[in-house]
Amino acid sequence: MRQTLVAGNWKLNGSFENIEILLGGVKAGLHEVRNVEVAVCPPFVYLDFVRSQLQGTAIALGAQDSCDEDEGAYTGEVSAPMLKELGCAYVIVGHSERRNLYGESDKFTARKFASVKRSGLIPILCVGELLEERERGVTEQVVARQLDAVVDEFGFETLKDAVIAYEPVWAIGTGKTATPEQAQDVHAFIRQRLAQRDRNIAEETRILYGGSVKGSNARELFSMTDIDGGLIGGASLNSDEFLTICKSA
Ligand code: PEP
Repeated sequence: MRQTLVAGNWKLNGSFENIEILLGGVKAGLHEVRNVEVAVCPPFVYLDFVRSQLQGTAIALGAQDSCDEDEGAYTGEVSAPMLKELGCAYVIVGHSERRNLYGESDKFTARKFASVKRSGLIPILCVGELLEERERGVTEQVVARQLDAVVDEFGFETLKDAVIAYEPVWAIGTGKTATPEQAQDVHAFIRQRLAQRDRNIAEETRILYGGSVKGSNARELFSMTDIDGGLIGGASLNSDEFLTICKSA
């Protein structure tokens, strides 16, 4: 049985004041959220503050990114072992904003994924196609290529206990959500692809959907067989909206 996960990706947003208000609201409504694991992924500089705010709650802490190296002369970077020390449970890797705005390749993403795994943290590996790729009918090839980059470099077993987030790039922050059927088709494709290598890993792997999930569309998306929760951007910055999404999962 896969544990549903709803993770909020705050991206480059927040201040001490806003975070206190946001988490205050989320914590106040958390008793209504059942059988769902909830996580929040603030910017690096707020991780320790958020950790202290989350004490005594079941909300997990996640980071939005990490270095592909564990330590060394990599100015400006933050590594997975450091994130572990800070109390993170999850690290997002390969978010489309990293891939598309910062030119991070499949191979580089795979190295980040491996560093997160080495540190004993859970990677949330984001995959998904551009609008132009969907229109060309190559969604499955793109997603397969992004998954294979990790598997080819580090072996299939490395996917055990990882989380995969299918995030069609055209749906991220655009207000355009994939229909539940469009999302389910790609989720089923991912699970089938995993099952070709290992049925148990395929059955156990949580596959989240991300892309303009809101309180109003979450229930329908989360009711699909292969959708095990969501990675939530914009809507995770509003406590009422985020709680509605968590309650829908
Ligand atoms: C995301 O950033 O992972 C995301 C899904 O964003 P949004 O919910 O705002 O589309």
